[in-house]
Amino acid sequence: MTRKTLATIKLASLKANLHALQAKAPSSKTLAVVKADAYGNGAIEVARYIEADVDMFAVAIVDEALALRKVGIHAPILVLQGPHESSELSYTFSHNLHWMMHNQQQIEWLSNSNNCDENWGAHLWWKFDTGMHRLGFAIEDFHALLKKHAKYINQHSVIATHLACADENDTAHTTQQIDRFLEQVAQASMPLSIANSAGTIAHHNARQAYNRLGIALYGSSPFEADNTQMTLLPVMSLSAHIIALRSIPTGDSVGYGATWVAARPSIIATVAIGYADGYPRHAPIGTPAICRQQRISLVGRVSMDMLTFDVTDAEAVKIGDKVELWGEQLAINEVAEWAGTIGYELMTRVSARVPRHYEYGPEPASKKER
Ligand SMILES: *Cc1c(COP(=O)(O)O)cnc(C)c1O
Repeated sequence: MTRKTLATIKLASLKANLHALQAKAPSSKTLAVVKADAYGNGAIEVARYIEADVDMFAVAIVDEALALRKVGIHAPILVLQGPHESSELSYTFSHNLHWMMHNQQQIEWLSNSNNCDENWGAHLWWKFDTGMHRLGFAIEDFHALLKKHAKYINQHSVIATHLACADENDTAHTTQQIDRFLEQVAQASMPLSIANSAGTIAHHNARQAYNRLGIALYGSSPFEADNTQMTLLPVMSLSAHIIALRSIPTGDSVGYGATWVAARPSIIATVAIGYADGYPRHAPIGTPAICRQQRISLVGRVSMDMLTFDVTDAEAVKIGDKVELWGEQLAINEVAEWAGTIGYELMTRVSARVPRHYEYGPEPASKKER
């Protein structure tokens, strides 16, 4: 592949983020969430790189877990959606999978399997709905459920919930969810799991036996307005190269729909990346990128394979220059805000056409003290 469009993944920065998050919650165990190909960063490479530093991995669906087993990842893997059908449970003991159980039908599937009931306890997480209203058993039914399904539950079974608003500065909803949860489960003395990235960073009593860390590992702050003082290092840098430069006169337009019209004689750089690579098509005129340490602005519509930038005010721009769409010089969350979305979506949508290039290297020393 000679097109230079690339997602560069700095694994050392990811590990630094992991260690910084672990330092926030030293008595919690860590699940590294590597669903959706580790949020677009490459689940296999990420899992290999941090396996020794985490207690478990988490994925959304069983296929993602099996793909990790296939390449020799040994750490236990939690399947966050639980089984989608009973046949998936046959992988539990052969592949050391753990399941987030969240509905009655999944419990019925356990009884169809030919494993001894008491073996299940250590492989099951039980998800309770404390206000997210997406998955989970009603938290009010906690004691009844434990009693009814006692044969599948032991002191290793993890009791979990998921926070709807942990990323917001208004903490009322989160506090209510955590309180509801802790009130019901307090006497059970079983391991608990509440926190995602935002919960781990910002909510002290969300840090329990297991924290489920996703987006923050990958260096994008989960917070809308981040006032947490937690510095995360960007992990993915998305870049492409200028493949054409042209001068256009005042009044000429650029791109499909002729949506941008030059208000002055302008120099337009065409960059070899588009929405088929995962760059958001809705990124508006003015969305920034970086070329030669200078900010440049998107003009015209995002095409399938190309973007156009106004480089009139940028110095020394040439064909072949590298343009960073987001990454170390431009926060992914800033681009996401321009495009009306969140860092999670931009990261996970970088398409298979974009090669991932991994940088290993030492963990940035100065950041270890955070
Ligand atoms: C994806 C996911 C996480 C990780 O969330 P982040 O915000 O990326 O840290 C945690 N728990 C559950 C249940 C999830 O689905």
